[in-house]
Amino acid sequence: MRVGLYPGTFDPLTLGHLDIIGRATLLVDRLVIGIAINKDKGPLFSLEERVSMVEAECAKLSAKTGVEIVAHPFDNLLVDCARDVGAGIIVRGLRAVADFEYEYQMVGMNRQLDDSIETVFLMADAQYQAIASRLVKEIARLGGDVTDFVPPAIKTALDRHFPT
Ligand code: ADP
Repeated sequence: MRVGLYPGTFDPLTLGHLDIIGRATLLVDRLVIGIAINKDKGPLFSLEERVSMVEAECAKLSAKTGVEIVAHPFDNLLVDCARDVGAGIIVRGLRAVADFEYEYQMVGMNRQLDDSIETVFLMADAQYQAIASRLVKEIARLGGDVTDFVPPAIKTALDRHFPT
């Protein structure tokens, strides 16, 4: 059984993340969404909120694809998290050149820590490529419309945080 780990902060989950998750289900039998606790980053949404968003949004995709998708909070080393959940594949999304630089270093270092875990990079559909959680929060904070960037339930959650 092929198990994949897709790690991130998911603060909040966007349509870009969901596009990558959909693509990752083509590669694995079970997909673990690793939700970085990241207290230092001061996430807008609590861990519990981020986990339930991922669970709610992935349930339909899971039923459609037959691939089990589970949320797994973590705050240890990524390779240790992969070992904890039995993942042989780490999935990352690539947006732009800016992502590449960082990801390139991460792969190199993770490979030295554990050579048995392979990282694969996926690109979202063109319409989702520019989406970043950080910008979505910024747009919502300034009263902009985030309909095209996040699922409806997450737009509602953002509206609660930033009432106009
Ligand atoms: P992190 O804190 O690790 O950057 P994110 O939640 O922002 O966590 O992103 C998790 C992963 O999803 C990263 O690999 C990131 O590059 C990828 N990702 C985020 N948004 C997109 C997008 N619009 N298209 C492709 N990949 C994306």
